[in-house]
Amino acid sequence: MKEGLLQLLKLQEVDKKLFELKEAKEKYPAEINLRRGRIAEARSVLSDLEAQSAEFEKQQRHCEREIESGKATLREREERFAVVTTNKEYDSLQREIEICKQTIAEHETHSLKAMEGLERIQEQIDEEQSAFEEVREAEQERIDELEGQLGTMQEQIDEVKKSREVVAESIDAQLLKTYKRKQGRRGIRVAAIHRNACGACYYQMPAQILNEVRVGDRVIYCENCGAIMVWNEQSV
Ligand SMILES: [Zn+2]
Repeated sequence: MKEGLLQLLKLQEVDKKLFELKEAKEKYPAEINLRRGRIAEARSVLSDLEAQSAEFEKQQRHCEREIESGKATLREREERFAVVTTNKEYDSLQREIEICKQTIAEHETHSLKAMEGLERIQEQIDEEQSAFEEVREAEQERIDELEGQLGTMQEQIDEVKKSREVVAESIDAQLLKTYKRKQGRRGIRVAAIHRNACGACYYQMPAQILNEVRVGDRVIYCENCGAIMVWNEQSV
């Protein structure tokens, strides 16, 4: 009986391990998704900035083209001064040239604004890029770890189940039944005495009960938490 009670403690350890593995198997996929979501979120912040940057570049290219063609028009108009013959023609040409210069100046202002915007966005991109890398690295490391665990999870569960069988085999059928009956309860079903107290709830045991646990010829339950009491090498 005493040996059987000690085996029950071992069985509880194995069952705890089994429970944790099964729980992990259920929870890991959700955690992986959550972490992938965080990477995607960080990535999308960066993508938004990159889109803004592309828009500024486009604006700037457009302005540069407009400035180029504006300057060509201006040159062409200025050359016409050589061939104007009347004052009216001269005034008209002067006005056209004024308009042309204004248009060029407007595009130059726009181009400058786009360039400033581009610089500002680039700074944000640089910051976001390193923030994204940090998030991606940390999350990916954990994802790889979880996926690795999941990959061998069934193997681990099968292995623990096998060792459970070995431990259970050595335990008296009646005792095993008692243990199983307590299976519905959460937490600890078997506990070793420690410092004259129940190892599960720390309830101080009367000397009479302690003695009975030490002898170990019948099953004693903690009268506080109901755990099966065991006397092992640490029980003093
Ligand atoms: Zn207790």
